Amino acid sequence: MQSGTPEFGYSKRGRRLIVMNGYSFYHKKDHNGKVRWQCSTHSSKGCKAVIHTIDDVIVFSKLNHSHAPTKNWIRGELF
Ligand SMILES: [Zn+2]
Repeated sequence: MQSGTPEFGYSKRGRRLIVMNGYSFYHKKDHNGKVRWQCSTHSSKGCKAVIHTIDDVIVFSKLNHSHAPTKNWIRGELF
């Protein structure tokens, strides 16, 4: 799986998220400075793709999405 450039932004509800390759990841958990991001369709589609970051740098990613990209990322806002 090729990895693209991650974009950090905020959802309409003010929640932090990352968009990468048309997929969005929601901020899930902080642990000792490491942040875990979960694919935004995790709860609706059970997608298990995750990203871990430290200081907004990706240190781990598992991008095995079980669905097509959302592609609704426009000018820093998720619609
Ligand atoms: Zn996914």
